[in-house]
Amino acid sequence: MMRSISKILFIETIKEMFITSAISLDKQVLDKIRQGANNETSTLSKSILESILENHEIAKNEGIPLCQDTGIAVVFLEIGNQVFLDFDVEDAVNEAVRLAYEEGYLRKSVVLHPLNRKNTLDNTPAIIHTKIVGGDTLSIHIAPKGAGSENMSRLAMLSPSAGIEGVKKFVLETVLLAGGKPCPPIILGIGIGGNFEKCAILAKEAIFRPIEDEALNPIDNALEKELLELVNGLNVGPMGLGGKTTCLAVKVNSFSCHIASLPVAVNIQCHSARKSHKVL
Ligand code: SF4
Repeated sequence: MMRSISKILFIETIKEMFITSAISLDKQVLDKIRQGANNETSTLSKSILESILENHEIAKNEGIPLCQDTGIAVVFLEIGNQVFLDFDVEDAVNEAVRLAYEEGYLRKSVVLHPLNRKNTLDNTPAIIHTKIVGGDTLSIHIAPKGAGSENMSRLAMLSPSAGIEGVKKFVLETVLLAGGKPCPPIILGIGIGGNFEKCAILAKEAIFRPIEDEALNPIDNALEKELLELVNGLNVGPMGLGGKTTCLAVKVNSFSCHIASLPVAVNIQCHSARKSHKVL
């Protein structure tokens, strides 16, 4: 039997997700930042992490955005094949984003054409990914993605002979090149495999995973742990000013690929790791 979800509920849900995610972070992310602050020996690194936590308290209590860059809207939808949506889904997502950025007083950061740079003034269009899955629910993941971290993300089509060492080298190189620009401590979403676009999507999906979870595949799982240690040994530190807390978590998502390919993508998320997940 089909289950109908109204346009009003769909729009209101996504609107609220954007407004609330702009002003507060998941408890698990805050716990990781707190652990980092306790673990730092340098006074400067410790005080930066404490300032991030204090900034969060102020934003949450006063209902103001955590950061001036309230991002481009990224939305992943998993629509059950028994869900009936009697409206244009992309239009409705964009309406939700328009309302959220207006009502939430969030900065409008989208230009209509990348070369004429004219602001659309309502933060649309959103980046929308849609998947049809089994079931009668609609799963919505959203993230307002800031440019500081997105701009430092990279993708490489490695030769298969580069192997796991090539992947690790590319990730470490990416973090070093980024330095303080993505506002560390960062979260790394890493895609390995697929083809050019699939790999980038794997990396993006990885940053939507809960910060505490671990990859199920044993190769990805071991790589997550090893990379976290290696990245935190680079001394990039909070805001790039040195220290042990460069990265809060590494998430690796992999997919099968062509015999002649080894794509790898690194999507960087900043400490202002705003996101939200709801199921209707
Ligand atoms: S990288 Fe993140 S914390 Fe830094 S300015 Fe951009 S959105 Fe804000």
